[in-house]
Amino acid sequence: MNAFLWIVAALAVFWALAYFRAATLAWIVGVGAYLGALTLWSDANSGLKVLVWTVFLVATAMLALPPLRRALISDPLLNWFRKALPQVSQTEQEALDAGTVWWDGELFSGNPDWNRLYAIAKPRLTPDEQAFLDGPVEELCRMCDDWTIAHELNDLPPEVWQFIKDKGFLGMIIPRQYGGLGFSAYAHSQVVQKLATRSSTACVSVMVPNSLGPAELLLHYGTDEQKNHYLPRLARGQEMPCFALTGPEAGSDAGSIPDFGVVCKGLHEGRETLGIRLTWEKRYITLGPVATLLGLAFKLHDPDHLLGGKEDIGITLALIPTKHPGVNIGRRHFPLNASFMNGPNSGKDVFIPLEWIIGGKEYAGQGWRMLMECLAAGRSISLPSSSAGAAKLAARTTSAYSRVRSQFKIAIGKFEGIEEALARIAANTYAVDAARTMTAGAIDLGEKPSVISAIVKYHCTERARQVINDAMDVHGGKGICLGPNNYLGRAYQQIPIGITVEGANILTRSMMIFGQGAIRCHPYVLREIDATRTDNAAEASEKFDGAFWDHVRFVMGNAARSLWLGITGAGLVSVPGARELRRYTRQLSRLGAGFALAADVAMLFLGGDLKRKEKLSGRLGDILSQLYIASTVLKRFEDDGRPQADLPIVEWVLEDCLVRIQEAFYGVFENFPSRLSGWMLRMLTFPWGRAYAPPSDWLGQKVARAILEPSQTRDRLTLNMFLQKTEDDPVGRLELAMQAAPAGEAVEAKVRGGVKAGVISGLTEEARVAAALEKGVLTAEEAAQWRRFSLLRRACIMVDDFPHDIGRNPSQAEVPATPRLGSVVSQKSAA
Ligand SMILES: Cc1cc2nc3c(=O)[nH]c(=O)nc-3n(C[C@H](O)[C@H](O)[C@H](O)COP(=O)(O)OP(=O)(O)OC[C@H]3O[C@@H](n4cnc5c(N)ncnc54)[C@H](O)[C@@H]3O)c2cc1C
Repeated sequence: MNAFLWIVAALAVFWALAYFRAATLAWIVGVGAYLGALTLWSDANSGLKVLVWTVFLVATAMLALPPLRRALISDPLLNWFRKALPQVSQTEQEALDAGTVWWDGELFSGNPDWNRLYAIAKPRLTPDEQAFLDGPVEELCRMCDDWTIAHELNDLPPEVWQFIKDKGFLGMIIPRQYGGLGFSAYAHSQVVQKLATRSSTACVSVMVPNSLGPAELLLHYGTDEQKNHYLPRLARGQEMPCFALTGPEAGSDAGSIPDFGVVCKGLHEGRETLGIRLTWEKRYITLGPVATLLGLAFKLHDPDHLLGGKEDIGITLALIPTKHPGVNIGRRHFPLNASFMNGPNSGKDVFIPLEWIIGGKEYAGQGWRMLMECLAAGRSISLPSSSAGAAKLAARTTSAYSRVRSQFKIAIGKFEGIEEALARIAANTYAVDAARTMTAGAIDLGEKPSVISAIVKYHCTERARQVINDAMDVHGGKGICLGPNNYLGRAYQQIPIGITVEGANILTRSMMIFGQGAIRCHPYVLREIDATRTDNAAEASEKFDGAFWDHVRFVMGNAARSLWLGITGAGLVSVPGARELRRYTRQLSRLGAGFALAADVAMLFLGGDLKRKEKLSGRLGDILSQLYIASTVLKRFEDDGRPQADLPIVEWVLEDCLVRIQEAFYGVFENFPSRLSGWMLRMLTFPWGRAYAPPSDWLGQKVARAILEPSQTRDRLTLNMFLQKTEDDPVGRLELAMQAAPAGEAVEAKVRGGVKAGVISGLTEEARVAAALEKGVLTAEEAAQWRRFSLLRRACIMVDDFPHDIGRNPSQAEVPATPRLGSVVSQKSAA
């Protein structure tokens, strides 16, 4: 063999050992065998042979003899690692420690086990939960007239509030033993999602008490006395909770709240009591203005050591009745015309007894840990579910409107420009729903997926924003003019609220998703960090040595795998699942290997700086997020029973995810601080250059067509949406118009034919249809079908109008108003 072939053979041996993440012994045997063959059969000069054997034997001695390996390699690295590791504050550490690692761990493994994904149980409702959705949730939706709520009352009507309380909506997460509904996370998500398709005010008012707040915190940390007192009252709506963490000076950086409490003695109910004197200023607190029970986060200080040795005890959580003297609550904010209650609250030197700390005084100073531990559940459910609801409403109405609204004598949904928007709407809605469903299911499996909860919070709200924007564009003026018949405008106005709350999106993307994921989900980093924090030197050395060499094998394995999958286009990877989707799953396997490699290279080069390199961190987070979303889409298709009609949507989302991942990778390569490393990373992950193209126009057209007519795909896409198919409901009317469209349009085509043939004439469509009926071109039934369609269509495209002062001044009410559109349809169609 010539030298070139020996080099190729050497690379092949290294590649194979790395690819299979071979153990140390296998490396020694493999490389030794290669060198043996080289010595025996190659004509390389003997000096070179001696050199490679020397290197091999030294390396073998170091790898095979742990004390030597540790002394010469692992221990110096451990010392370097200790210095390079960024300082982590206690609040950051508690955030990192919180929650569990689930499918995100697979994505960080470089080789996700798709069988494990498909084996995850499909979330299901119990009969009771289903009955609740079909009963009280439907009823609540019917009771909510969003225009009255948002424009006239700026609040839910009293009977709606009462219904919410009476039916237990505020206690969905409270177990039955305390009088709550004891719902699963999935059921909770279904309720929130459905309400979001009808009234954002009702949705938020129900969502917040079931998210991170007094009930959740009491369930996990409350004393028996606190639980027995508050939980039944919260479940029945006798207490209205709110939770106040952030304020004017501490929003995103909530760990730095300036609100404080000082441990002291004071008078409570006439008795001298050990307690806390509190001063705080909070704002934007949802349900604050109507709350009877204020959950408050503050920093606790104990200058007189009344609780023990520590002076700065840390963030503490307490429950304070809002009627308690000194609690200043009551005014409200007006967030983007939303009508859920939200406002500031404050207090100065308010004395509360120590027993009001959630969990009692043992939990003083544990507040941040408590919040972080509970954050994942609420964040996985509330905003992903409400985003899914908003997206479904937009998808259903926009597809119908595109079918019903014609311009240039053609339904606008058939224009290619609108098709593009419709395809995005369908695909994003599908993805949001897939992500929220699988994630809610994870909570029911006992997970607290903190990194995934940040992913779904960010991506569901962002994708919903895209859906609403597209829907608004398709609706044109119809979406813009507010009134009882506008079902989109409020969602458009309020989308930024979801973007901002529960971790504002820019922060979530740039700092949290990858920043937290890299440490939390990586198979070895946490073990290495743990070693640096171990005081006992021998134990630290042993721990680090084990984790580090596993890590090295992991990185080499990912590099080899990534290159191989890149070169072969992942065509040889065996993956489970629907045959039609395996080509995508293979690509996701390939990109998973590349991601694991890129994550390690980024951590190696940037170390603690990664925290400040938010643009890189954001892109790596995008890769992780799209891998997760694509996984949920694969899973949903499988759980739905692989409905072939949905394939275009599924393929569109997956192709879009692949392109987004690719572009995020290229952003990393092109902006990596070390040009050489960026280039090498690219060669290892995309050896032939860019591999994926955006979904084709042809595929987009199939997606748009799949929702442009009533179909099972459209129904599945918008499943669990509130729909009343009546003419006086603006959304229901659209549905009826859409159903009537084919027959109505067929009649119009006949009439056009009659006009062309010179059989009929008339200045208006109405006159032409009448003439066609008279001349026998149309039957009476056809003429009636057209009339009904025409009236419905007209009612759908009309918007509300008002007196000049939008009805504020009753004297102007005499200006004749356009009659309510629904009644126009009913009267005329009845006639
Ligand atoms: C309608 C509404 C309801 C709310 N309900 C509650 C509630 O019930 N209880 C409660 O405690 N709080 C509540 N909040 C507060 C909410 O959690 C905060 O608004 C949120 O944490 C952001 O704080 P901020 O608005 O002060 O923005 P800021 O923290 O000032 O952020 C401004 C911008 O800077 C970005 N940013 C900040 N830090 C970084 C960083 N390190 N890297 C990159 N970007 C960064 C943010 O992403 C954001 O885009 C609510 C807010 C609103 C608007």
